[in-house]
Amino acid sequence: MSNPKFDFAAMPALTDFQATASWLAGLGWSEGAGGNMSVRQELPTGLATETFTALPIAVPYLAGKAILLTGSGTRAREIGKNPVPGVGMYQIGADGRSYGWLAGNQTPSMELPAHLAIHNVLEQVRPDDKAMLHTHPASVIALCHLDGFDNAKAITDTILRLQSEARLHLPEGIGFVKHALPGSLELGLQSAEAVKLHHLVLWQYHGCLATGATLAHATDLLEVFEKCVDVYWRLRMAGVEPDGISHAETERTLQAFGQLERYKSVF
Ligand SMILES: [Zn+2]
Repeated sequence: MSNPKFDFAAMPALTDFQATASWLAGLGWSEGAGGNMSVRQELPTGLATETFTALPIAVPYLAGKAILLTGSGTRAREIGKNPVPGVGMYQIGADGRSYGWLAGNQTPSMELPAHLAIHNVLEQVRPDDKAMLHTHPASVIALCHLDGFDNAKAITDTILRLQSEARLHLPEGIGFVKHALPGSLELGLQSAEAVKLHHLVLWQYHGCLATGATLAHATDLLEVFEKCVDVYWRLRMAGVEPDGISHAETERTLQAFGQLERYKSVF
């Protein structure tokens, strides 16, 4: 770091990490060191590194920017108490093919390349979505083990028509990525493709990925989806396979709130 006056602990984004981690841990969604979070931003003034490590992919839209990312093996319940030891800040090289440590935790999650691949897409398609998080809600993972829940359309149609406002929060529905090696670049690249269309993506047998302006906003979407999944399980446990709110009624709701075009842009 070239700016000795820089105060990492005072960065506003750390408050978002702390509050979100505490909430995810409380929900039981990020067990142990499960899950991870990142936020991209401009490089703080006067801060730079000259030591870079090569990336396995090119992320040209992130060149010269900074990313804050939870560290390898860090626990949400501990970041919820103090984010400074668990979150690291990195600079993306001007070549878009390297990164260097700037402050905080020095051992990034093994999913750093995957996070960067997704942020590289977000910077192009939804630049206001600065944050992304990954977590493991049990009710959602369980859904993956039912017949038929192995594609975006089926999951979206069955689950998001169970609550009146859900599709307003997620007009494009839920993205889906088939099971892939955890932490792999393959999983990251498939997710980067899915977030071009979807703010929330289900990783088969694994968990969810959500994007938003902040980590709190990304969590909002996860809560909406998980609430609907919970409603689905309650109905199934009562022996009911729900029809859900009709497509016509869903479209009327989306029309009333100016979200119909987003809804019609998919599937
Ligand atoms: Zn995971």
